[in-house]
Amino acid sequence: MFHRVAVNYPVKNQGLTYSVPLGLELSVGDMVDVPLGRRKELGCILETNVAAPEGVATKDIFQKREDYPSVRSEDLKLYQWMADYYHYGLGQLIADCLPATKKRPRPLKPIQGEGLPPEHQATAVQRNVIDAIAAQGPSFSKHLIHGVTGSGKTLIFLELVRRTLAQGKSALYLLPEINLTPQFVKTFSAHVNVEVMTFHSEVTASEKYLIWKEAAESDKPRLYIGVRSAVFLPIAHLGFVIVDEEHDGSFKQDDRCAYNARDVAIKKAQLANCPIVLGSATPAMEMWHHFNSQVPKTFYHPLRERVTDASLPEIVLVDTKNPANKPKPNPSESVWPLHETTVAALKDALANGEQALVFINRLGFANYIQCRACGHQFNCKNCSTTLRFFKNKNQLSCQHCEYHEPMPPGCPKCGNLTLLQKGFGTERVQEELKRLLPQASIERFDRDEIRTFQALQDKLEAFHCGKIDILVGTQMLSKGHNFKRVKRVVILGVDNQLNMPDFRASEKIWQTVVQVAGRAGRYSHDGKVYVQTANPESQLFEMIRSQSFDGFYESEMTIRKLCECPPFYRLAALYFSGRFQDKVIGHVTGDVEPMLRGLRTQHFPNVQILGPRPALIEKRANQYTWTVLLKSQDINQLHNMLRSFQMNWNGISGISLKVDVDPQHLS
Ligand SMILES: [Zn+2]
Ligand SMILES: [Zn+2]
Repeated sequence: MFHRVAVNYPVKNQGLTYSVPLGLELSVGDMVDVPLGRRKELGCILETNVAAPEGVATKDIFQKREDYPSVRSEDLKLYQWMADYYHYGLGQLIADCLPATKKRPRPLKPIQGEGLPPEHQATAVQRNVIDAIAAQGPSFSKHLIHGVTGSGKTLIFLELVRRTLAQGKSALYLLPEINLTPQFVKTFSAHVNVEVMTFHSEVTASEKYLIWKEAAESDKPRLYIGVRSAVFLPIAHLGFVIVDEEHDGSFKQDDRCAYNARDVAIKKAQLANCPIVLGSATPAMEMWHHFNSQVPKTFYHPLRERVTDASLPEIVLVDTKNPANKPKPNPSESVWPLHETTVAALKDALANGEQALVFINRLGFANYIQCRACGHQFNCKNCSTTLRFFKNKNQLSCQHCEYHEPMPPGCPKCGNLTLLQKGFGTERVQEELKRLLPQASIERFDRDEIRTFQALQDKLEAFHCGKIDILVGTQMLSKGHNFKRVKRVVILGVDNQLNMPDFRASEKIWQTVVQVAGRAGRYSHDGKVYVQTANPESQLFEMIRSQSFDGFYESEMTIRKLCECPPFYRLAALYFSGRFQDKVIGHVTGDVEPMLRGLRTQHFPNVQILGPRPALIEKRANQYTWTVLLKSQDINQLHNMLRSFQMNWNGISGISLKVDVDPQHLS
């Protein structure tokens, strides 16, 4: 007897055929150990009782792996779809996704829902959306709720989840981060009457294994709340899927299989034949376009007003070209990197007994250090980047690897003692604010300062109860928090994004500002957001200032069409990495490029080949990376060309390939 097995190794194939030793009973989806060369590898049974391969000696399957759950047939379909779409090995994907158990896992402690009625009645607008989604029935349909911050999406989700649970089915709620918003799970579980299971990075592998088993085997309806990887939970009787903050970059996995959990979730709902709802105040361009394109079973639900008795905050653009923002010769007179307007606004807020947020999406004190005499910059030993300066630690460190070194007293090249601190991050902003507002309690909210869940909870608690006046933070601050006493928000440094060679730069700035601004004045009519920029007259910042609900999307679509970018064209990036630069360049320019050009000429004329070129950070943790970008309006040709390439590309020792379909950022 022979079975076909998807084996965990990084080559794309349709599975390998193995013989089955007598007495070993296996079904489709079972996990097994198989021989591969001289190694033992994990595999998943794809098909049983297949024909013996001709002219090849087969090897026996070693054994069944009881420490892994078996894969259900509908999940196998999902993995198969992902392996095809993302051009990743099926066996490797399954091995990446499945949790393994230890001998004696700790028993699970699900949160018992309290089943309390919702705190607020749905408004007429909310009820319309709930009814419109429910009217599509229990089978597959997809919905995008595009609602301004504070428009009450959560209540809509909650009501739809409650209805699903009442029908005896389970619901899956995906969100970018659970740990950043401890109150979220609490609020949600208060209002459902079933067990709530959470699935995120703090859950151990063994606990994941138990949740996995329970999900597949239990008949009880449950609510599963989880981050990206929860999309793989094998939930029996799945009746509803939600992807909240669908635009968020953390749904996209960077390493291994470069999947987007939002897109996988849509496929999962389709396979489970249940509805899926995406929500965002700032949908991804692709989603906005797709849900406005009259596709069958696809619905767009705009929410243009805040639901509470609060209006959207006013957005004030602060022009940093104005000389008041420049560093002054006498440091005590300087307010840089802030601006006099923003400092005055913060002073005002403090005088009114309010709290405030200051957002800057960079860590540390200075972005890089430069010698004033000879211009020397401090580079990472392992990467082609400059080191960032952290003042408290008196350290220079790399953002792409573990490398760090103490800040030297002078220039190692010329001995000059004046080292200029260029650019700024949260640490610098905090220090300047402390100097400018000596009476205020000013704390940081970033990865550098907050390293544990406990520290995060403590910091949030201290802010909620008023022990902190101003929080200076990175994007950790922008995610879903409800701060009742915050009316003023300051946003610094968004212009940095404009200098990136990324067609999504405007979209990312739009999303950042709208999301961060969403933290202001959620309970009042006089919220104000100060955005410091050197480009206040640009169209993008005018859209931001006027908070035009559709205007940004409409104008950005025109640009995307002109520049032949997504969603009108589709992209796939190929990354080739290796230890030796000349070998990588030689392979990419000597083998890969001619092969791709040949495929294009012969079979895929509608696919454009851009590159090869070095990655933005060519050397990262001692690995050199070169990249080729494929672009086409014809998604089938794009996929077929990738498939042909992978079949023809035999690889080369010491060079790895990563395929990124629908890349979120081009690195
Ligand atoms: Zn020097
Ligand atoms: Zn480095």
